Amino acid sequence: MVRTRFAPSPNGPLHLGHAWSAIVAHDLAQARGGRFLLRIEDIDGVRSRPALAAEFRADLAWLGLEWDETPPQSTRLATYTEAAESLLAMGLLYPCTCTRAEIAAAAIRAGPDGPVYPGTCRGRTDAPAGAAWRLDVGAALARTGPLMWEDEIAGPRRARPELGGDVVLLRKNAPASYHLAVTLDDAADRVALVTRGRDLFAASHVHRLLQALLGLPVPTWHHHALLLDANGEKLAKRRGSSSLADRRLAGEDGRAIAADLRSGRFPAGVSLAQGVGDPE
Ligand SMILES: [Zn+2]
Repeated sequence: MVRTRFAPSPNGPLHLGHAWSAIVAHDLAQARGGRFLLRIEDIDGVRSRPALAAEFRADLAWLGLEWDETPPQSTRLATYTEAAESLLAMGLLYPCTCTRAEIAAAAIRAGPDGPVYPGTCRGRTDAPAGAAWRLDVGAALARTGPLMWEDEIAGPRRARPELGGDVVLLRKNAPASYHLAVTLDDAADRVALVTRGRDLFAASHVHRLLQALLGLPVPTWHHHALLLDANGEKLAKRRGSSSLADRRLAGEDGRAIAADLRSGRFPAGVSLAQGVGDPE
């Protein structure tokens, strides 16, 4: 049975781009007789606002979606620690105390998420307080050998986690980075089809590597096209996309909004990105 998921962080309200992402995941599961899961990614420290999770559920119900809820990330911290310890035992993690400015100054190329960390601290064996812990991607790939993964839309890919450099797996102010937590959660939730926006395409290179290192099942991915605003940028609250909660409380019909999205009737100024959009 195919399980898909929608995994929002309660850092801010959902908007139309989130509705689109949830509907894509929901409908893919439904079309295949599977299940659609909601997971609250609530480990973003100070930015996380627990009250928003209840709002998210009200938003999804208002859109006419049905879901099964999985445990929130805050209940899974032991799993993240255990995985990090096993990577540490493999000699694949090292501490990094570089600041964002130092990384920007030292970076020699840009990657999917900005300046690529050049590996300044690679090989460090101390454990300074307040360090972030990075994955030695080169050593990890040497251990796993070449890896493949498959996106339903873009087709088979060779995993190229080196594109983003040595990513942070344990953050200074949070129990785990997005990469580590989401990979472990999708395995724990038996998500066989990972659906998310194309802006996260490059993250899958890293997630495939983590799956190989940690002996996790390998899902198929479905990176859907993003909704864009009039400037061709991804919809975002800070650029004026009104929240689903505001529209719900204003008495708009959520099911009608979902039906419009499904049939490609987008609001004025909103469009669906064209092309496969492969960030490689
Ligand atoms: Zn460093």
